Amino acid sequence: MSASPPPDAPPATHAWHTLPGPEVARLLEVDPTTGLSATDAERSRQRFGKNLLEHARGRSPWSILLAQFASLMVGLLVAATCVAFLMGEYVEAAAILVVVVLNATIGFLTEWKAERTLAALEKQTVPTAHVLRDGNPMLIPAAELVPGDVVLVTAGDRIAADGRLLEVVRLQVEEAALTGESVAAEKDCEPTGDANTPLGDRRSMVFLGTAVTNGRGRFVVTETGARTEMGRIGKLIDEAGTRESPLDRKLNQLGRALVVIVLALCAVIVIAGWLRGNSFLKMLEVGISLAIAAVPEGLPAVATMTLALGMQRMARMRAIVRRLSAVETLGSTTIICTDKTGTLTRNEMTVCVYQTLARRVEVGGAGYEIRGDFQVDGQKIDPLADAVLRRALEIGALCNDSKLSPGPPATILGDPTEGALVVAAEKAGLRHGDLQKQFSRVAEVPFSSHAQRMITVHRAPEGKAIACVKGAPGALLALCDRQLTDAGAWPLAEGDERRIRALNDELAGRALRVLALAYREVSEPFDEAEHSRDLIFVALVGMLDPLREEAKNAVAVCREAGIRVVMITGDQPATAREIARQLGLDGNPGSALLEAVHGRDLANLDEPGWQRIVADTAVFARVSPEHKLRIVEALQTQGAIVAMTGDGVNDAPALKKADIGIAMGIKGTEVAKEASAMIITDDNFATIVGAVEQGRVIYSNIIRFIHYLFSCNFSEIITVFIPILVGWPLPLVALQILWLNMITDVFPALALALEPTTPGLMGRGPRDPKRPLLNAPFLWMITWQAVLLSTSTLAAFYVAMQWHGVNDRGVTHSTTVAFMTLALAQVFHVFSCRSQRRSAVLSAFFANAWLWGAVVLCIALQLAAVYFAPLNRVLHTTPLGGRDWLLVVACSLGPAVVIEAIKFVRHLIYGDEV
Ligand code: ADP
Ligand code: MG
Repeated sequence: MSASPPPDAPPATHAWHTLPGPEVARLLEVDPTTGLSATDAERSRQRFGKNLLEHARGRSPWSILLAQFASLMVGLLVAATCVAFLMGEYVEAAAILVVVVLNATIGFLTEWKAERTLAALEKQTVPTAHVLRDGNPMLIPAAELVPGDVVLVTAGDRIAADGRLLEVVRLQVEEAALTGESVAAEKDCEPTGDANTPLGDRRSMVFLGTAVTNGRGRFVVTETGARTEMGRIGKLIDEAGTRESPLDRKLNQLGRALVVIVLALCAVIVIAGWLRGNSFLKMLEVGISLAIAAVPEGLPAVATMTLALGMQRMARMRAIVRRLSAVETLGSTTIICTDKTGTLTRNEMTVCVYQTLARRVEVGGAGYEIRGDFQVDGQKIDPLADAVLRRALEIGALCNDSKLSPGPPATILGDPTEGALVVAAEKAGLRHGDLQKQFSRVAEVPFSSHAQRMITVHRAPEGKAIACVKGAPGALLALCDRQLTDAGAWPLAEGDERRIRALNDELAGRALRVLALAYREVSEPFDEAEHSRDLIFVALVGMLDPLREEAKNAVAVCREAGIRVVMITGDQPATAREIARQLGLDGNPGSALLEAVHGRDLANLDEPGWQRIVADTAVFARVSPEHKLRIVEALQTQGAIVAMTGDGVNDAPALKKADIGIAMGIKGTEVAKEASAMIITDDNFATIVGAVEQGRVIYSNIIRFIHYLFSCNFSEIITVFIPILVGWPLPLVALQILWLNMITDVFPALALALEPTTPGLMGRGPRDPKRPLLNAPFLWMITWQAVLLSTSTLAAFYVAMQWHGVNDRGVTHSTTVAFMTLALAQVFHVFSCRSQRRSAVLSAFFANAWLWGAVVLCIALQLAAVYFAPLNRVLHTTPLGGRDWLLVVACSLGPAVVIEAIKFVRHLIYGDEV
């Protein structure tokens, strides 16, 4: 029997920060070099449960279901039931109750589907953590962490549990969420203070929910889930979960306005009909039914479902949208600010040239395969015989945190820039593993975008300490005062430096990414300021990062779609400019200037300066993350809707500020992902453009079903109103109106929301997000099309009355004709609503299978309504004859034919697309 305490027993807590690291590991029964074993981890998980905080949960099915019954719609239906009951129409009363249930069911299914889709999408972005288990580093969902786990963190990670640090390298953690202190706290491993030391001073601890801004570290998990400091104050970390979008708000407002208008209209109809001599109760019933039919109650729910399903479709296309509202904003994006490396290019670096002052060595091969020669002037050379080249290869491989896994296929773990350097060294015959053993690392300064360099200090076999440095050529050259030549280290004359810069420009002009390599001997202890000066320059290394083939096409799509593309990169101007040229960025709107702006030129800009510089710059090079924020702000001031990519911790403010912050799924940090509205899982620029297109499709789908629903609902009102004004019998009975509302409005409208594409959508400019949902031309179109539907229905009704007379049986016959005509006219109208401009039949007529399904279903139900005896009784219908059917078909096709003809005439006059 296991002696472990019951699962709910609180763990024995210690003042972890006051104990030495090894002691903490001992108390938690873990070997800090190998981490927990899988079995220990599982036992711990059973004991402590999952590492989860209380979360704002999604809505439960029950609450969604209950909400369906607490609506105006149901109130109206219940009122209608009472009226029917008062009139002694018990069948009718029962039928209306059925409508109540059906309505609630449809509403429930719509909302539940949206809810479940959103919940499934949320699961795709669960935070992860790097742990050591059984001696192997691995990536697991943060929820699986247990006390005792050994976790590795680097800059950009979100700390996933509370823990005691075991190892730190310049670790800095921003703990504002917990302590309110926004300046990052320096961490170390020494025991500090006593049990009462405030959280902010517990330097040897890290806490769940805080973010690593610099360096790296290793800690052992002491507390998880609700027992963490964050859990105890009951705070939510992720505030991205809000589910009401601006569109939702607009639709809700619209809905409320329509309720008032519709109720007023219905009241007029009831009173007018009563004055005309109809029975008051019957008119009340018709009025209530009309109100039910005309109030677009389901609009917000359908809109949410459309957005949610759109998000699902986008996730399949590798764009995970984290905020519902982002979907609609995406569609109106006017500017995409994008990284270069990895987004426009493949981020598969291959070293292809080493350039020393004396010679240029070309390296053959592609990808991470260890195959390729070293050549000078076309002659194969032995790379290790050349002392300068050998040193360059060593520095590249040592000042390096990546790892090569030889495959096949060969892959690298870590930064591709560094991986390429390891591959080059291996091609020369230097084993990475052997080098690392020979020159053990004793100190380091990790790479930062700000300093643009990385330093590692190694103990050489003969005992000397050497600092290896690699970084951006400009930044590094400024630190060099000597150069390595075949005859040893020589002073670096000013002319030499100029030549190196010229060589750098030459390589960059070939679109190569260029790094400089340098070193020096240092004395211990290592001191960064002291030892990163007076370096010995060794070589430039140029690496090729091929363009993504899709990127060029995506840039062209943006050009058509009126979207400006701005490249923002940390790389140097010459490289960036050449890549921009290859992509054809200069053809895009607002990008007349391919001349790259250098980050240096942004340093002291005032506001007008910013406005001027963002107005027509296509390439920003050597730009720091703070500049990104300013660029977004300046563009937004000019009214742009900005999508901005980012990956590092420092990008978070810009990602938050942008209208659409886009994080890289592969190379993005946890913090960047949390700050963004969308994550692209393949880091690919083309995916962003695809997502923008989907954003436009989804918005146009919402417009489509608004178009359809509103014109149909309005036509029902007119169809009932006109006969009352002119003194005809009523063309539709109450239950027929409810039936129309249930059948034709629901299925075709939902199917319209699922239209997969819109032809020509990326051929026009972005939508102005400030434009109202219902602008005047749109309202006008809805109105005349509704009038058309009603006119046609009333024409059929009139002819039928001529044929069948106005006695009871005749009116039932004529009502059935009107009912059938309006129903079918609405079914056909759905095709016209697929596009306001394009022909319904010519453009992708069969593209939407849902639509065809809905149409077939509606026609079948409509036939049942007329030929199925029990429905005859409930709906007051009667089977139709051949002559009736001719009339029905002609009058129901009429509106669609007229609308399509008008589209065609517009095409002839204005050249609108057909
Ligand atoms: P980007 O990756 O878009 O070029 P970064 O800010 O990451 O932007 O890098 C800026 C510059 O720093 C690079 O152009 C390169 O010269 C240099 N650099 C990039 N990665 C490393 C690294 N791991 N070590 C040293 N220098 C680097
Ligand atoms: Mg980079």
